[in-house]
Amino acid sequence: MLDKTFRKIMFETDVLEYPQAQKILEQFSKVPQQEINRVDDFFGRAYKPYLQKRDSLQLFLGKKRGKLLKQTPDAYGIGTGPHYYFVHAYNCIFECEYCYLQGYFSSPDIVLFLNHDEICKSIVERTKADLASGHKQVWFHAGEFSDSLALASWTGELRAYWDCFKKLPNAALELRSKSANIRPVLEQEPLENVVISFSMSPKKVVGEIEHGTSPVSARIKAAAQLQAKGYPVAFHFDPVIHRPNWKTQYQELFASMGKFIQMDKVRYASLGTVRFSSDDLRQVQKNYPRSKLLGAVFEKDHEGKHQYPVAMRKEILSQLRAQAERAGIPPEVIYDCMQGF
Ligand code: SF4
Repeated sequence: MLDKTFRKIMFETDVLEYPQAQKILEQFSKVPQQEINRVDDFFGRAYKPYLQKRDSLQLFLGKKRGKLLKQTPDAYGIGTGPHYYFVHAYNCIFECEYCYLQGYFSSPDIVLFLNHDEICKSIVERTKADLASGHKQVWFHAGEFSDSLALASWTGELRAYWDCFKKLPNAALELRSKSANIRPVLEQEPLENVVISFSMSPKKVVGEIEHGTSPVSARIKAAAQLQAKGYPVAFHFDPVIHRPNWKTQYQELFASMGKFIQMDKVRYASLGTVRFSSDDLRQVQKNYPRSKLLGAVFEKDHEGKHQYPVAMRKEILSQLRAQAERAGIPPEVIYDCMQGF
């Protein structure tokens, strides 16, 4: 499917040292390919409408340069320790109508960064520094600018991260996804400190708003399969979209999860309502003018984000928390993600 979507592959000369680059170029040998010096000279240089991602994408292979780790916003992850994200890709093959990437880059083209060795080196150094300054655990997250599992079967980077985190018992990695593509995870052994997390929404929301992602039933089965084999799993009930019958839809979601998943063993679960920067909201209005997302009232919060009114968010989060607890997720592992009250 992707060899029809990708119109061209541009690869930096520097990535040819990585076997994965050769594999990807061979896999897409029918797609026109061009060797370049730097991805930055081409990616996003000319504006490309976001919805062209449906049928006309370029693929870039390059090295991530500059700062390889960035601190996450407050309340991004569980606990009080430091949280960082690393960027191994820009953009995503899925199309969630609320995705902030549509207002973030000026192109939906996919960029894969292949210098995982250098990212892992930064993770080791950061962990040592944070432990030396008194922290007990340091978290790293993948999937901030892409989906962690959607392309992992052919991007092939998971082994490098497993090797890295196996040697870092006081660090933890989260791979965040809306894909049920767990095959590349099952090729690695379960590690206590590598958590696979799935973003969860009711079936109706997935169908109406999260285009191209795995059905929620497939995500549930993927999570259950991982859990049964000893991999830690977590869930993000974020973003919650306020729709008629949302309470019933979440009740049904938790009931479906409870049939397959050991809810008392869920590592953590985050809750959050949908939120947009002004740019993101403009993009949603432009790309999806009839989106079910836009039927609600949004207010600007103190950080300039467009969110549901505070009382409504509080009501949603408390109802959802109660439902998650009733479904068996331990209360102490449930947290509100970046709600900024
Ligand atoms: S899966 Fe994540 S990165 Fe991909 S379109 Fe949806 S929100 Fe965006």
